[in-house]
Amino acid sequence: MQYLSTRGHPDRKRFSDILLEGLAPDGGLYLPEHYPQADAATLRQWRTVYDQQGYAALAFEILSLYIDDIPAADLKAICEKTYTQEVFGTKEIVPLRELEDGVYLEALSNGPTLAFKDMAMQLLGNLFEYELGRRGEELNILGATSGDTGSAAEYAMKGKRGVRVFMTSPKGRMSPFQQAQMFSLQDANIHNLAIDGVFDDCQDIVKAVSNDLDFKRQYKIGTVNSINWARLLAQVVYYFAGYFQASRSNDQKVSFSVPSGNFGNVCAGHVARMMGLPIARLVVATNENDVLDEFFRTGVYRVRGSADTHETSSPSMDISKASNFERFVFDLLDRDGAEVKRLFQDELGRHGKFELHEHRSFADASGKYGFASGRSTHADRLATIRDTWTRFATMIDTHTADGLKVAREQLQPGVPMVVLETALPIKFAATIVEALGQQPERPAQFEGIEELPKRVTELPADTAAVQAYIAAHCA
Ligand SMILES: *Cc1c(COP(=O)(O)O)cnc(C)c1O
Repeated sequence: MQYLSTRGHPDRKRFSDILLEGLAPDGGLYLPEHYPQADAATLRQWRTVYDQQGYAALAFEILSLYIDDIPAADLKAICEKTYTQEVFGTKEIVPLRELEDGVYLEALSNGPTLAFKDMAMQLLGNLFEYELGRRGEELNILGATSGDTGSAAEYAMKGKRGVRVFMTSPKGRMSPFQQAQMFSLQDANIHNLAIDGVFDDCQDIVKAVSNDLDFKRQYKIGTVNSINWARLLAQVVYYFAGYFQASRSNDQKVSFSVPSGNFGNVCAGHVARMMGLPIARLVVATNENDVLDEFFRTGVYRVRGSADTHETSSPSMDISKASNFERFVFDLLDRDGAEVKRLFQDELGRHGKFELHEHRSFADASGKYGFASGRSTHADRLATIRDTWTRFATMIDTHTADGLKVAREQLQPGVPMVVLETALPIKFAATIVEALGQQPERPAQFEGIEELPKRVTELPADTAAVQAYIAAHCA
């Protein structure tokens, strides 16, 4: 399998090369040259594999179609080491439970940091350690987080050979639980950098450091942003596992509702659908930061400035632009790299938006590609959390509530709707208390983490300051 850039660069790369890279040299995102097809026989086989051998075996089947430069036995061992009951809590890894007739929750947040990002990041940690060991290299991961990404990356990379993590986060803006999760890690290869600014400032610093090619080369800087193809690929697996649990046979269609921010999660759903998984609708659920809902409703993609980016009670979806969205637009425009480059580099650069509503392909977004969308607000979130608790005795987190609210608007008769549960309520306790008047349950391993000693360094929102810190801690 070869990988190409969404902006038309002529180079082709192998999986192991893009694994450790961020953007393609032309600023595009990597995608496989084609999507391997899961035909009827393959789907039947995979259903049996998941039922009888489990999630890790299913992951190996899917991943091996995209990764042909790691020996099969090694890749299998990596999958088996990653997706275990000890790490993810259940034999199913992503168990499904029915909430009401035809509406399901797929639990993706029983990993070490209690958010769905563990699903991909735990695999990434093992892939990185494997590949760096094979090459005899080191990597310094620089990231930006508003909460879930950073903790998932740190828990995946802590103690891994050859890897250091430098994680920037906006000072004081994560929930106390999230701060405690990250800052309590005592592993020497983990560095928490609290930046005096907002999440976009952190993201801009990461981008600026990555664009400083000399620095990047000298200090072997890499990222684990949601644009990393391996992360997206790992997420494809749970669409298959969710589908198999929600359906009896592969003739049925199933829809998914996905609490969305950077479009990584739902883009994995798009990849699964392109492979032939019988998905009816891919429902993009946003919060008040509705860049994506606006696009799917109107055909206008308009990125927001920092001032127009709302701080909401589903903070992991507080985005001004959706960094994986370019991958879908590439497919939507029949993989016209030159046109994608014009839109994302020239149009966005100059006008902060582009418009596809008159483009002949725009109708395909909902038609051929099955996308639908909706938006949920703080009031919706509270109402949905309360309703789910009262009627089903099930406590859901704020992001999952956005997904459930929008899912109900997109139900079709006879088509099961799977809502992806992207985090556990304990991560966003303040809003749960506001909705329910009681504290969320806390898994035993997180008792008292707010009281643990914290390892964090405060820095100004300044690229040079972050570079100086990295240089000083890379010996
Ligand atoms: C990251 C995250 C999201 C958004 O996922 P994207 O892949 O960025 O669209 C939603 N919910 C939670 C809890 C998250 O951590």
